[in-house]
Amino acid sequence: ACGICIKKCPFKAIRIVNLPEEIEENLIHRYAQNGFKLYGLPVPIKGKIVGVLGPNGAGKTTAMKILSGGIIPNLGDYTSAPSIDRVLDKFRGTIFYDYFKKLYAKELKVVHKIQYIELIPSYIRKGTVREILDKVDERKMKKDVIEFLNMELMLDKDVSILSGGELQKLAIAVALLRDGNIYIFDEPSSYLDLKERLNMAITLRELLPMDSYIFVVDHDLMLLDYLADQIVITYGVPGVYGIFSKVYSTNSGIDYYLNGYLPSENMKIRDEAVSFKFHETREEFTYIEKTGEVLCSWSDLVKKLDNFVLTVEHGEVHRGEVIGIVGPNAIGKTTFIRILVGELTPDEGFTTSTALKLSYKPQYLKRKIDSCITVEECLKDINREALNEDHWLYQEVIKRLGVDRLFKKEIENLSGGELQKFYVAQTLIRDADIYLLDEPSSHIDVEDQLSVARAIKKIARLRKAAIFVVDHNFLLIDYAVDRLMTFIGIPTKKGYGKSPTTVGKAFNELLKELGLTVRRDKESGRPRINKPGSYLDRYQRELGMFFYYE
Ligand code: ADP
Ligand code: ADP
Ligand code: MG
Repeated sequence: ACGICIKKCPFKAIRIVNLPEEIEENLIHRYAQNGFKLYGLPVPIKGKIVGVLGPNGAGKTTAMKILSGGIIPNLGDYTSAPSIDRVLDKFRGTIFYDYFKKLYAKELKVVHKIQYIELIPSYIRKGTVREILDKVDERKMKKDVIEFLNMELMLDKDVSILSGGELQKLAIAVALLRDGNIYIFDEPSSYLDLKERLNMAITLRELLPMDSYIFVVDHDLMLLDYLADQIVITYGVPGVYGIFSKVYSTNSGIDYYLNGYLPSENMKIRDEAVSFKFHETREEFTYIEKTGEVLCSWSDLVKKLDNFVLTVEHGEVHRGEVIGIVGPNAIGKTTFIRILVGELTPDEGFTTSTALKLSYKPQYLKRKIDSCITVEECLKDINREALNEDHWLYQEVIKRLGVDRLFKKEIENLSGGELQKFYVAQTLIRDADIYLLDEPSSHIDVEDQLSVARAIKKIARLRKAAIFVVDHNFLLIDYAVDRLMTFIGIPTKKGYGKSPTTVGKAFNELLKELGLTVRRDKESGRPRINKPGSYLDRYQRELGMFFYYE
């Protein structure tokens, strides 16, 4: 009833043991009686990029609003009007005091890249990208920003017709051009493909004024790893309360997060650790080689769609295998998936996949399902058994993704992340030979990405099925897949899909195209971007090993 669960937590696998009593001293904000409670805040550090990592509904956006002055925290007293003096009193003697004093005295100017960029066209209404950038260019860096973010081709477009990725780039560019002392980027990676994400990270690192306070909230771990100097992790019970962790160095913070244990606060935030080390052992590959039955294959394929031409090299997939697909936006990944599913017929070539039992999650999800209303009803229609708590599918998919907590909700009212999880779950609980998931990580938080990645692997192995996953999240792909296909070419004109190959080889090619080097962390095995020009970056370039696979 108090909202703080000590042992068995209804939320996902998050388990919070030994929640210290002193926690109430850290209560920063409470929305209303029985409303969400926020404990602690990410520490502002001048000249450092502070990365914020954690599940949806844990108070990240609330904290950003407090740090930008949009909300004056009520310190838990939601009955009286918030007071600046009380806030300053509360923080006296801490690092926050100076920050809030200056913020409230308007000595600090805030620049905020909001999370919901979809709202931008409605308040800008009219104007081309070029006109908007001209207007906001306080730092006189327009040329640099356009070049860094590759915006030349979108300059003359009107805001009303921009794609999600273009809108995101515009929002980031606008924030960079403003002259501020506090920069907040709330989920800058949404809608961006892998290349654009890395590009964005490099741009922020290069162009943000380093004498300012900078916060980046994001769900892409590899991006945060590259971008952030320090990491703060939020945990708790989404929608009920959220706690900000102490500040960790980026590297250790991400490792602690993946391991599910925060040493400074002695807090277990997840039961299962996520390990990236399996690639080295080759255990999993051996497993597939042994069971090795080829499940389906496709020949070289060609498909023309108006002005777009897709060519795909032949390939095959084994039982138990997960195949990843990566490449920029509008390069033909979805088109290839639709050929495998039989929704599109290739102009040249064939695939044997269409003869098998298929389960497909499209990239764009429908909010209206005619035959059912609630999550539970819809899932029951697909596989009644999977809703039985003792059934393995319940444990491996429904529970793992936290979909059990959505049962009574109506599909129409789900948030973006919840809708995605519902669709991933309904795709994976079907009985099929081949599963195809088009961008399962979009809109979902980092905690759920890990759950999705685990569910995918489990289903492939336990069902001896094959799974295709298209995604832009490097860590998810690295964790979940056995082999990888890269799609290259000229977006919207011409796409070229390569045969599946080992993750190492495919990443190497991809990164070479992007001009970036990535190493595998010695301790954790997770992939990390090398800082351009660093010793490792130069060393790997010399060897031609853009993805260093020890
Ligand atoms: P995050 O950014 O981590 O997803 P938010 O800070 O947006 O989390 O939200 C944390 C919780 O606070 C959510 O449960 C949300 O419903 C609740 N919340 C956010 N804004 C308000 C508000 N204005 N009034 C009441 N509750 C709110
Ligand atoms: P990706 O999944 O890699 O983002 P898609 O396969 O969705 O790319 O699309 C590749 C290109 O083909 C895009 O330019 C897209 O607009 C175009 N396209 C996709 N489907 C059709 C269609 N049915 N008719 C015409 N053009 C299409
Ligand atoms: Mg697509």
